[in-house]
Amino acid sequence: MKLFEYQAKEAFAAAGIPVPKSRLVTDPAQARAAADELGGHCVVKAQVLTGGRGKAGLIKLAGSAAEAEALSASLLGETRQIITRLLIEEAVDFKREVYLSITVDAVAGKALIMASADGGVDIEHLAATAPEKIARVLVDLDQGLQAFQIKNVVFALGLAGGETGKQAAAVVKNLYAVFRKHDAELAEINPLFVTADGSVVAGDGKLIIDDNSLSRQAGYELTREHFDSDTEFEAAQDGIPYLQFDGDISLMCAGAGLTTTVFDLINYEGGSVANYLEFGGPNYRRAKRAMELCLKNDCKVLLVVTFGTIARADVMAEGVVEAMNELKPRVPIITCIRGTNEEEATATLRKAGLEPMFDTEEAVRKAVALCAGGKS
Ligand code: GDP
Ligand code: MN
Repeated sequence: MKLFEYQAKEAFAAAGIPVPKSRLVTDPAQARAAADELGGHCVVKAQVLTGGRGKAGLIKLAGSAAEAEALSASLLGETRQIITRLLIEEAVDFKREVYLSITVDAVAGKALIMASADGGVDIEHLAATAPEKIARVLVDLDQGLQAFQIKNVVFALGLAGGETGKQAAAVVKNLYAVFRKHDAELAEINPLFVTADGSVVAGDGKLIIDDNSLSRQAGYELTREHFDSDTEFEAAQDGIPYLQFDGDISLMCAGAGLTTTVFDLINYEGGSVANYLEFGGPNYRRAKRAMELCLKNDCKVLLVVTFGTIARADVMAEGVVEAMNELKPRVPIITCIRGTNEEEATATLRKAGLEPMFDTEEAVRKAVALCAGGKS
């Protein structure tokens, strides 16, 4: 789960990493008041989960509270992207921008610290054109971060020596603590500002929590911004695995592996997928909710493929028929519902006027053919 910059900076601050003073606001009047408190000269930062905000024009420097208010109004009125919150931050006058991040090296099974004296907005470009300018230090998770490694990282940042070096070493140490405490896949500061008086301040903050750890990272809520579509958000709130595509065939399947296979088969047969929805496991009694989500798509066919063992075929078939009767879909439904109590399932589907199928590939071919035959 990606956190917003303001959440990452809260975590940084709690770990002792210096961050600029800031206020989170949701309307231009609040922005003005916040800017006033911070002395007028401030940065207005859109709280979105996509990177590259600077280049996209979503980070604005304001010279006065009135300007902060106007810039906030225009950012909150953006139509390209949902922007509901802004971070109003005191502007930092910096003399350098450096790059520091900690991520997971899955192959090595270690934490990977990356550091560069050239920070700022173009780190991807630097990684592609001058990778030697980015130092990489692997940290054994059991041993933890060692003093010599901190030294190497500070040296790579170009900040060794003096008070700046001490502060930078503390940032490296504390960012590693944030990374571990939050079960992070990524903890990044880009830029880490070095000010004229030689102090270091986190100019930006990125923190991504491993989804498998969310149960012990309480307090972070999934919001609409974490998803690409309304339906993906709705499905996630209901705990139904769902991915949005823009093709013709809506998948309502059970079992992640089977759903993925059906997805591949559709593409193999020259068809296209409207959405991936998986209603197996804990969700196999929720056919109606699943179908509701599928029908939010502008699809041409609804394809139901399941193979249940514990998730009973008869229960899923009954659910599909009930959902059909209530939701009255206008698109054809193809079913291939197999597994435990398949005979009852077949009888239920036939009684409802469907023609149950028993071979996944045939069912996929039929769905693709129906799309090709329908109006485009
Ligand atoms: P990102 O583009 O989404 O990574 O957003 P950042 O928070 O990293 O901001 C992008 C760039 O805006 C930074 O690299 C800085 O050059 C600039 N910027 C951000 N905050 C400040 C600030 O307080 N003062 C000044 N002068 N520039 C800033
Ligand atoms: Mn940044």
